Amino acid sequence: MAADLPPDLGDSVVVLTVQGLDELVTRLSALGYEVKGPTRGESAIVPGSVKSSDDLPRGVHDVQSPGSYRIVHNDDDEELFGWAVGPESWKKEYFPSSQVMWRGEVVGDTVVFRQPDRSHTPLAIVGARPCEVVALRILDRVLEEGVHRDARYSDRRDSSFIAVVECASPADTCFCASMQSGPGIDQGFDVALTELNDEHGHRFIARSGSPRGADVLSSVPTRPANELDLEARTLLLETASRAMSRSLPYGEVANLLARNVDHPRWTEVAERCLSCGNCTSVCPTCFCSDVHDTTDVGGAIERRRTWSSCFDLEHSYLHGGSVHESSASRYRQWMTHKLSTWWDQFDSTGCVGCGRCIVWCPVGIDITEEVAAIAARDEVRVGVPSRRGAS
Ligand code: SF4
Ligand code: SF4
Repeated sequence: MAADLPPDLGDSVVVLTVQGLDELVTRLSALGYEVKGPTRGESAIVPGSVKSSDDLPRGVHDVQSPGSYRIVHNDDDEELFGWAVGPESWKKEYFPSSQVMWRGEVVGDTVVFRQPDRSHTPLAIVGARPCEVVALRILDRVLEEGVHRDARYSDRRDSSFIAVVECASPADTCFCASMQSGPGIDQGFDVALTELNDEHGHRFIARSGSPRGADVLSSVPTRPANELDLEARTLLLETASRAMSRSLPYGEVANLLARNVDHPRWTEVAERCLSCGNCTSVCPTCFCSDVHDTTDVGGAIERRRTWSSCFDLEHSYLHGGSVHESSASRYRQWMTHKLSTWWDQFDSTGCVGCGRCIVWCPVGIDITEEVAAIAARDEVRVGVPSRRGAS
């Protein structure tokens, strides 16, 4: 994603101190938002309640590799955002892993249906990552902008405030730069922050991305950004981009996978894949769900929607059997949907390069390595229709 700023900045880019960030959090609370952000959990950075910068993971860094995640703490570090992404994305705030669709009750000889209460406290996220904001925009296309609008999702998305923090410390498993979803960001947020901590002090470059973001920024103490601030931001984002050793061929991967549906690599990866579904649980764009009805002897009825996974055998169950019976076909379904057929359905990629599926795969299967393996033995066929997104 483009990270350059326009040359004529005027007063549109400002600088906040850490105290200014505290005031921004206080302002959001005063406006009635429930403020959440990244916090230090027992062994991971997890979403939590944020009342001030003291709740953010100061001095915490993450070490991520295929099948491995740990956090380390350095008391000498002042950075609040010196890490990449935690295991949980912000998806669950809008699309919970389990939610009641409706309840019913048998009254006499009829059933009375009740919609769950959709009232909620608006959410403000302080510290979402660019890749996570892009992932939410992808989910918007599915759950808010499609034919079947998810009212609960829409209510929460439309009322929420997003303060994104650009990424200076990508993990070894990140590849957002190649997916045009980081480490900088220029749309999809209310406020965008870039944390700088150098000889000129610990501070945040701040930009508004919406009228409500501009309102909030104008209510906290700031100063205009100067050339030194902007150069520091540019250098920070360039360094972060260069630090990513993994990548995907953004403009080519859709066609590559479309013409390699019978590639031997699908069988090879299936020998390692446990079909556990961890990759889909942690993915910020996976949206498959299942619906369960329960009744009790007293006549109470409940319909609940829960996250589902294309790695479940039942997920593709049709007319007495599963369409995707083998692990190879399930893995292929997952990866080709993410990177290829998503373009046909939603006119975008389904992957933002956060690397969670690599980190949280118990056997360390790496989506970038799998694409590279397929590309290395590309079985080019004539007549395969072009996928959108191909350059
Ligand atoms: S497929 Fe993997 S890298 Fe891509 S968005 Fe999902 S979890 Fe992140
Ligand atoms: S790729 Fe990894 S995380 Fe995904 S289902 Fe297979 S073993 Fe589980």
